Formats: sequence, C-alpha cells, structure tokens
Amino acid sequence: MFVRDCSAPDDCSSQGCRQLSRHSTKTSVGQSDPFAASSGGYERKDSLSIVRPNGTVLAAIPVYIRTICSGRTSMQSTLMFHGIGIPGHPMEPGEENYWINWDQFDAIVDYCAKLPPDEVNFTFDDGNQSDLEAARRMRAQGVDGSFFVLVGRLGAPGYLTEAEVGELLDLGMEVGLHGRNHIDWRKADDATLNSEIDRAAEELGELCGRPVEAVAIPYGHYDRRVWTYLERSPFRRIHTSDRGRSRPVDRFVRREPVMRWHDIADVVELIAGKASPAKRLRQAVMPRLKRLA
Ligand SMILES: [Zn+2]
Repeated sequence: MFVRDCSAPDDCSSQGCRQLSRHSTKTSVGQSDPFAASSGGYERKDSLSIVRPNGTVLAAIPVYIRTICSGRTSMQSTLMFHGIGIPGHPMEPGEENYWINWDQFDAIVDYCAKLPPDEVNFTFDDGNQSDLEAARRMRAQGVDGSFFVLVGRLGAPGYLTEAEVGELLDLGMEVGLHGRNHIDWRKADDATLNSEIDRAAEELGELCGRPVEAVAIPYGHYDRRVWTYLERSPFRRIHTSDRGRSRPVDRFVRREPVMRWHDIADVVELIAGKASPAKRLRQAVMPRLKRLA
C-alpha cells in the first residue's frame, strides 16, 4: 500500500519529487485562486489516495500538505512601486502617497541587492517616466524588475515613451501590461475589457517584440468576473494589490506597496513578512506625519 500524490507540478520529477504516479486533477501549482480559501502556504492535494496492492483505491482523502519538491514553497515578497521623484503629470487623488523619493528608492535597492536571488521582486505600475532611471539604478546593482505600463499613455507627458520601453527591455527588465487607460476593470463591459486587456497586450507585445507574460490590475480592483477573464488569458502571472507574499510558482501574485512614508526599516519588515497585522495596516494607510515635516 502506498500514498499516491496526484497534483504535483509537472516538473516535479526533475527536482527529485518522490511522486509514484499521477493523474489529472483540478488543482495545480501556479493556478492559485484568490476566491478560494487560503491554504496558508500549503497546497491542496485533492488526490491523495491510499491504494490497495491490487491497485484499487481504498480511500481518497482531501488534505492540505506541503509539496515535497525543493524550492516550490519558498515565499517571495513582491514590492510595488509607482513613481519616484517628482511626477511629470497631474496625479489622481491619493496618488501622491505612492510616490517615493530617490533616497528611499536607493536604500531599498541597496538592501535588496544583498539578498539571495529571487527573495524579493520589484514591480512598477503606471509606466511613469521615472521607471527608466529606476531601472538603470537597479541594473547597476544587479536587480531585476517588472514594469507594468499603460498602453494608452505611452508618450504622454510624464510617462514612458515607446523608445523608453525599448530601453527597459535592453536593460534586461520585464515589461508587462497595466491596461490601456487605467480604469477600474470591474466597471468595464466586455468590449472595454477586451480593449484594455487583450488588444492592449497585443499592441504591447508588438512593441516589445515578444509576448506579454505578466499583467498588473489597475488599482488592484477585481471581482470574480475580472478574475475569470484574466484566468482565461495567456498571462503567466497576474499581479494584484492584495498584500502578502507568494511562491514563485503562483500565477496570482500578492504585492506590498511601498508608500511615501516608508523608511528602509518598514520595507525590510514588508519583505520579511514579519510585520504584525496592525502594523501592516498602519504601514499601508497611515502617513507618519513626523517624517513628512
Ligand atoms: Zn496603476
């Protein structure tokens, strides 16, 4: 009698997974669903079966268990930046809280450059023109990043131009999609979603000369309909603004926003995922006025 693990990732065998057999399953690594109950870093192995010597199944027990494949469960932090320095365009209400200064940014890059590879990911939303200088400073330190641009704002004052998107790629950075016009996708009809997501991704892919593999949801707003729409899209990674950490194999990626009142100690806590819930809330929504004077 042995235990059969049927929902291991496809490449488990190459990583020494001691899986004995597998068959189809509705749950797989990298297909995490934000509407499903959190498994706290564990995966549901819904085909864990106890098998008789003659091959018949004695029992199939739904359980949650950590994958035994090396490297599949390590949690990563993904930082979410917006603009750095002085905005070159009028800001949306509240957007100023998402802009940090270059000293803050340099301190974060310096810290993260010393961490083990893949422990923290850098992402940038909106395609602000400061992205290019940020990318140059990151490249100088050997740090990679993903830059989610708005196709409809390329070339507008304060935003990246198409040529600058090419420079990001030349620096070895990933360019992903943030939509076309920065709207709330929950309020968009299907035709608008098609323009904001599918058509915009095609146009960005043509500009970049490669398929767009990652998307970041504007404002982090999604509902079941938007999620289903994205789930059926070819994007390999879907970045939200839901806070927390994710695994490298997760298609649904949580992010920690870096705010204007964060100092390097705050960011270190965000990366480590060690801040208490109360402190995380305070870090997210409450400016530290004494530091803003
Ligand atoms: Zn945005």
